[in-house]
Amino acid sequence: MIPVCITTIFAFVMKMKNIKGLKAELASSQNIIIIPHKNPDGDAMGSTLALYSYLMLKQKKSTVITPNDYPSFLKWLPCNNDVLVYENNGQTAKKLIAEADLIFTLDFNHLGRCGDLQELLEANKKASFVMIDHHQQPDDYAKYMYSDPAMCSTCEMVYHFIDQMQDIALINKDIATCLYTGIMTDTGSFRYRSTTSTTHRVIANLIDAGAENTQIHEGIYDTNTLSKLQLKGVALKNLRLFPEYRTAYISLSQKELNDHNFKKGDTEGFVNIGLSIDNILFAVIFIENENEGIIKMSFRSKGSFSVNQFARNHFEGGGHDNAAGGKSDLPLNETIDKFMSILPVYKKELLNS
Ligand code: 5GP
Ligand code: MN
Repeated sequence: MIPVCITTIFAFVMKMKNIKGLKAELASSQNIIIIPHKNPDGDAMGSTLALYSYLMLKQKKSTVITPNDYPSFLKWLPCNNDVLVYENNGQTAKKLIAEADLIFTLDFNHLGRCGDLQELLEANKKASFVMIDHHQQPDDYAKYMYSDPAMCSTCEMVYHFIDQMQDIALINKDIATCLYTGIMTDTGSFRYRSTTSTTHRVIANLIDAGAENTQIHEGIYDTNTLSKLQLKGVALKNLRLFPEYRTAYISLSQKELNDHNFKKGDTEGFVNIGLSIDNILFAVIFIENENEGIIKMSFRSKGSFSVNQFARNHFEGGGHDNAAGGKSDLPLNETIDKFMSILPVYKKELLNS
């Protein structure tokens, strides 16, 4: 058998451009911040907290600042208590952003994705921006850019970034746990098309570095409450099928959310229910958010039908080919009407993909 050096087998992994320049800036930087997108998910929190732990091992103190709060099933992640939530700590976050000389932005492709933080980040003209992200059509704001839409997750990219920094040996249990979490959540537990053999090699290395796969899976997925499961029942009741378009949608009104003691993250994964139906390849969920005055939408697809393009074209959103999000300022029923009026335009594409 040929012995395989596991850290050097990633032949086709795209790289961070000008890593030497970034290394030099990292060495001299005094104030580093790390920013995920608004409504951070497992990949956003996993990647930012892994980078935070990695920089700490490099004797570099940084601060993770999230635009807003995130689901409690992510709050057991290592170093979670060090996270600063902007919507709860506005003044401290503002000061840190203004003073920053190096700003890592993770798991998003344009600054508009971090809500109210956008203005503050854009006001800092002296900082160098670093982007590590796997969404399509990235904006051009970062001096150091590692963008690869073929990657399954930003967490896998952080792994390759650490590899490129020649620091694989530094990956400890905390970093491995965070990276495993984001890869697992963004790949639907290693089942989406973006999951490659390299992804599995990275995962194997993370397990060797201390990631406890069963515990991580349970921490993310086995934290249901009765009211959350009952809300899922409502979602199932509201499911509508349109086999002629190979499409399914679910809607949840604010009242239905309130009646089930809704908490952030409770509807995570509901959109996939539609996709699990035979012959359905486009699934949508409409969720009313009275607080923000919008209907938040999630889009999922199978095969070549691009929900990224659909969300961009019609609902001020975007994301990936098979998973994207968007929003509407119309009331819930009018948003659904709008969606249904657009659907026939895509009939041919949906039937042929
Ligand atoms: P989710 O539906 O799980 O919120 O998001 C699915 C994917 O689409 C994620 O990669 C997320 O970052 C992206 N996404 C969600 N909402 C939006 C949005 O409003 N705009 C853009 N550009 N991307 C979004
Ligand atoms: Mn991601």
